[in-house]
Amino acid sequence: MERLDAFMARANAAYYARHDPFADFTTAPEISQAFGEVLGLWAAVTWQSMGSPAAVLLAEAGPGRGTLMRDALRAIRRMVPDFAAVLSIHLVETSPRLRAAQAGLVPDATWHDRIEDLPAGPLLLLANEFLDALPIRQFIRRGDRWTERFVADAVFVELPAPDPGRPAADGETVEIAEAATALIAHLAHRLAQTGGAALFVDYGPAVSAPGDSLQALRDGKPADPLADPGSADLTAHVDFGSLAATAQAAGATPHGPIPQGIFLTRLGLVQRTGALARTQPPARAGAFIQAASRLIEPELMGRLFKALAICHPDLPTPPGFAA
Ligand code: SAH
Repeated sequence: MERLDAFMARANAAYYARHDPFADFTTAPEISQAFGEVLGLWAAVTWQSMGSPAAVLLAEAGPGRGTLMRDALRAIRRMVPDFAAVLSIHLVETSPRLRAAQAGLVPDATWHDRIEDLPAGPLLLLANEFLDALPIRQFIRRGDRWTERFVADAVFVELPAPDPGRPAADGETVEIAEAATALIAHLAHRLAQTGGAALFVDYGPAVSAPGDSLQALRDGKPADPLADPGSADLTAHVDFGSLAATAQAAGATPHGPIPQGIFLTRLGLVQRTGALARTQPPARAGAFIQAASRLIEPELMGRLFKALAICHPDLPTPPGFAA
């Protein structure tokens, strides 16, 4: 018998070690190169607002194929060469298989297993669809008591548990993302000490609410999350409201969460897409425009996905977060 978070950590480590996750799902940087480009320029403008420090880490957590960082660096080198000249590239990735893919697209990077292992100094960190892969605990309200979900022989087992301290009606599930919370607390503390900002883009509600959001994708289709651990990608919605509060309590300033569609529009994704489309034959141009719509339209990825920035308290509101 294993607690759900232990099961999820083990299953996802096996999944990312063995699979090409992009056979099962696609992500914003794989949909359009403009996504990584505008996030790279977000980092460049934030670096300028820090007073353009002479050395800075540009890091990404969970870089997948390395596409976002490759696109970010291309835009940075072209548009903000002063930033390109002083940054060092750091990728946080546990999967050896994905590290190899990333090395092909971002050869100048240094790899780390954990965010806590990043070297000291001012930091700009990007992460897309990273937090949703981190393990969660699930508590269920049963009358005036609580249970917690464990996994035994591919079925859920509920054991008596303490009150998780979140409101829920009888039968509702409360999810607690301990790993994500610890990581945000560490990062917020570090950013408050040595400067910089982090940008997380992922899916989940802006305000914490009860609900079971655990899901599994196997061969691109929703699947039983407990069957055959390591064969499916397990994710949960990111509890942005609670992570923003964690960042604040640890001494950093959160901005957002705001819907991805609004954030990307403010960062100029539509204009960048137009510029890309004009250089292409009509069929390719249409594909760029369709890709941008997928990222921005509320009923596609524009509303469920959110952006949350965590900044040193002296930094101004970063690009895309001011109304
Ligand atoms: N950001 C990429 C990939 C998202 S998939 C994109 O948008 O396309 C999730 C990524 O996080 C993968 O690279 C996976 O290997 C990595 N990952 C998952 N759990 C991790 C952990 N605990 N520590 C470090 N990386 C992790």
